[in-house]
Amino acid sequence: MKQFNIKQCRICGGTEFVKGVQEFHGSILGENEWAAGQPLYHILCLNCGSVLHSYVEHPTSLLTRKHREQYEQARKENK
Ligand SMILES: [Zn+2]
Repeated sequence: MKQFNIKQCRICGGTEFVKGVQEFHGSILGENEWAAGQPLYHILCLNCGSVLHSYVEHPTSLLTRKHREQYEQARKENK
């Protein structure tokens, strides 16, 4: 699980959280890469149920193949 620096709910001040996942029809699709859906993970406040943060595990899979290759090549060159 990814770690995010969430210490307190900005709505109710709660300090305990739970992770949920939105899959299937609620998955995130790349704008131009329809085949690569990604589950959307949420960090929610246990006290009030507010969604505090949402993310995908593999954002680069939302890129088209061409853009993904360009992105990965650029990252290699910057290391
Ligand atoms: Zn809350």
